[in-house]
Amino acid sequence: MDFFLDVVLPIPLQRFFTYRLNAEQASLIKKGVRVAVPFGKSKIYTAIALDIHHNAPIAYDAKEIHQVLDSEPIITGTQLKHWQWIAEYYMCTLGEVLRGALPSAFLLESETLVQSSKMENVDEAELTDNEFLILEALKHQSSLKIDEISKIVDRKNVLPIVNQLVKKEAIILHESLNELYRPKLEKYIRLNTLYESENNLENLLKTLTRAQKQSQAILAFFQLKPKNSALIKVNEFVKSSGISKAVIKALIDKGIFEAVKVRTDRIQFEENSKEVNQIQLNELQTKAIVNIKSSFNSNKVCLLHGVTSSGKTEVYIKLIDEVLRAGKQVLYLLPEIALTSQLINRLRAYFGNKVAVYHSKYSVNERVEVWNNVLHNTKKAQIVIGARSALFLPFGHLGLVVVDEEHESSFKQFDPAPRYHARDAAIVLASLQESNCLLGSATPSIETYFNVKSKKYGFAQMSRRFGDVLMPEIELVDIKEATRKKRMKGHFSERLLEEISTCLEEKEQIILFQNRRGFAPIVECTTCGNATQCPNCDVSLTYHQHRNQLRCHYCGYHMSLVQSCQACGNNTLDTKGFGTEQIQEELLKLFPNHRIGRMDLDTTRGKYAYEKIINAFENHEFDILVGTQMVTKGLDFRNVALVGIMNADNLLNFPDYRAHERSFQLMTQVAGRAGRTEKRGRVLIQTYNPYHQILHQVSNYDFDKMFTEQLYEREQFKYPPHVRIIRITLKDKDYNKLNEASDWFASSLRNVLKTQVLGPEYPAVARIRNQYLKNILIKISSNSSVLQTKNSIKRIEKSFNAISYYRSIRLIYNVDHI
Ligand code: ADP
Ligand code: ZN
Repeated sequence: MDFFLDVVLPIPLQRFFTYRLNAEQASLIKKGVRVAVPFGKSKIYTAIALDIHHNAPIAYDAKEIHQVLDSEPIITGTQLKHWQWIAEYYMCTLGEVLRGALPSAFLLESETLVQSSKMENVDEAELTDNEFLILEALKHQSSLKIDEISKIVDRKNVLPIVNQLVKKEAIILHESLNELYRPKLEKYIRLNTLYESENNLENLLKTLTRAQKQSQAILAFFQLKPKNSALIKVNEFVKSSGISKAVIKALIDKGIFEAVKVRTDRIQFEENSKEVNQIQLNELQTKAIVNIKSSFNSNKVCLLHGVTSSGKTEVYIKLIDEVLRAGKQVLYLLPEIALTSQLINRLRAYFGNKVAVYHSKYSVNERVEVWNNVLHNTKKAQIVIGARSALFLPFGHLGLVVVDEEHESSFKQFDPAPRYHARDAAIVLASLQESNCLLGSATPSIETYFNVKSKKYGFAQMSRRFGDVLMPEIELVDIKEATRKKRMKGHFSERLLEEISTCLEEKEQIILFQNRRGFAPIVECTTCGNATQCPNCDVSLTYHQHRNQLRCHYCGYHMSLVQSCQACGNNTLDTKGFGTEQIQEELLKLFPNHRIGRMDLDTTRGKYAYEKIINAFENHEFDILVGTQMVTKGLDFRNVALVGIMNADNLLNFPDYRAHERSFQLMTQVAGRAGRTEKRGRVLIQTYNPYHQILHQVSNYDFDKMFTEQLYEREQFKYPPHVRIIRITLKDKDYNKLNEASDWFASSLRNVLKTQVLGPEYPAVARIRNQYLKNILIKISSNSSVLQTKNSIKRIEKSFNAISYYRSIRLIYNVDHI
């Protein structure tokens, strides 16, 4: 009987692909193992095995699989179900979810390797110089990759040369699979078992009386070797004994020591010391836990709405502790930029080794280790802290999912597919795993709060700061008048400068928030009004003074700053708007005796750059920290007495239906960084419009009013949570084709759908990386079916793809676009 295997490939295919198996493979393969399979003309992919059956595919001849890569599944059935949900809900393929979900080390690379044919009859006289060079290199190395060959002969396209060499039978090619993940091996030594007997050991030491260092090394070995192990780590041995590596090597060469390589997990932490029992919850926290548990008991997701510094983390820690005691796993999700060592350290203080971190800045190998630890439910990954991708881990015993800062829009993946919302996908995950789910925030999203109001979610609240520390006092500073009367010093009002000076005198720290990085967003000619544009995108370039460059924040294009206007040639260029870099610059002039740090995308690129700035600020290595929204997220600085928001207006005036909600969240969160100890903190918000209702809601901490007003507006103008939005983006290099195609798509949608279809329209930036963009917005009201709408869209996509002229156009679905 024939056996066939359905697999998911990590590419956007609508269907599963089927391969032929022999009987032995069929008996070996389990659902969820990886298999290497040929696909297309010459590619080899890693795929995930699904079902084995006897039905040959109809449309094509099933190929044989290449190799079975795992003996045990690395993906669980529940995971597959969850991923399937993500694919369906967010309108992408399971393959795309797979690619986003698995650490890349699990997905094997297919690379062409070149080897020498070792044929004797190659006539060197017949070889060109380049061919000769390649063969020479192959005498020293058993194989070369194509790009290595490129480097040797110093040219890009080497395939013709390689082909010539194949023809001359000088080399052979083969496709090889490289397993990318390599467990980290550590060098240990042990004493040859021969010397386990006292006699032999004594004799050995006698023979070594001349070699003093070597006999010292052996004695040190016995002193330092851990009691329960025959092995000692070479590095530790060298460090504690002072014995040199040369001496160790001599002993290994003599066969007295033996070198052993041991696989160690990269992820190692010290043992925990603090007891969770020692936390004394206050009354609000205790009550919050009661409410949270009662929602859990009725199988509801629960929102914990606690003002900044109310002690939410302590509440999480208590809940986590109970879940661990019940032998279950915990997933703790945080938005990418809030993933700070501060929180990780707090959790590790209680749970030590059980805390694993899963983060894109970690190496692929570290991620594979967390994956395996979660899969095997080992001690080392009882609690996983991670950004959104952590919800793809192979949990089997999940007891609690915490989504901290649930309002954060960075939980939504923007590009590439799957464009999922991690909070929502986590809620689904929790329900598939029969786990509890807790959302936490000081400024919940309108959607979540709406779900609380409509009793879909449970609710717990903590409306005062822990230790009854007062919420900071928020003052609105009108800069319209001051600007008109030219009484601003750069971008600082007199009021803000006064407060900064007082703080500095008292040796307190200050955070200044400006929502833009760079020096100034735009360099504009005051004669003709021309601003230098990015050649690839429809945006003006941003001025970065530090490098004296104009840069595009969309595609990375940069050029050095020109002295005269490129349009009219006049020497009248001036900057407009301002960013973090300029604020830092002004501060250095205003307060030359103080240290000023900056935290934005430009200063936090390396793996630890972000932590370094946070630590430096914590250690008071600088007095003022200027930053973008990175400074708003869950940071806990003891000594910050003042927070300044440089300009509230560019937040409020952002053209998006969420701008007001976001401004409220952002300003409340930044304000929350001030005065977290006894002394009441102070917040100054500079604005041209101190009468704006959002600013009043921020300064009065009136979340409920903000919610009610925003919900009313959403209802009036048909926005979530009253409708669901699917945004379709069409993308192409050809402007006319894009217009025609998007009109076609929109009118087809209008013909079929019963819901509101808006557009096509150009987005604010209508061209990125030389691709034109157009958006169609579909608003699905609560009385129409989301599923049916999606199916109709998919049917229209099919007809669309059947039109060959439109084939180059990329279609991007963004469900619940935010
Ligand atoms: P949030 O996460 O709500 O902003 P945190 O959990 O960071 O608040 O708590 C604010 C501060 O109060 C922290 O320094 C924390 O250590 C302290 N704290 C909170 N709850 C307790 C408690 N039960 N006992 C002692 N300190 C607490
Ligand atoms: Zn650009």
